[in-house]
Amino acid sequence: MILVSACLVGVNCRYNGEGNNHPDVLAYLKDKQWIPICPEQLGGLPTPRSPAEITNGDGADVLSKEASVVTQDGLDVSESFIRGAEETLHIAQLSRATEAILKERSPSCGSCQIYDGSFEGKKKLGSGVTATLLKLHGIQVRSEEDL
Ligand code: SF4
Repeated sequence: MILVSACLVGVNCRYNGEGNNHPDVLAYLKDKQWIPICPEQLGGLPTPRSPAEITNGDGADVLSKEASVVTQDGLDVSESFIRGAEETLHIAQLSRATEAILKERSPSCGSCQIYDGSFEGKKKLGSGVTATLLKLHGIQVRSEEDL
């Protein structure tokens, strides 16, 4: 079983109410078993919602409460991001998923890169909250850019 960021397969779950349909992802998933997940929705956040970035760290630092996920208007949404990661892990374990294809640079789903918390489009190395938790539990996480 493969978990897939729902926005990558056309679900309109992004912060701005849009999707991010990615033909290479759909081609990769053809004839495979997969489940679309949106950790931010699973964490209880609405769609649309304010964009959020991780400040002063990465997904691992958020999980250990040493960094925060903050919206552009200054609201700390770390608990929702952690809950979404835990719910996603629960689905992964129930479905015996071994692999995840997650949207790069998202504060939840980014597997190798995230935005740096400045809301200026600057990127840095690091993983989002859900990508980190899945990796910690042995799930192979890749992005749409790895396909
Ligand atoms: Fe897509 Fe992940 Fe953001 Fe949901 S949390 S919109 S699945 S990148």
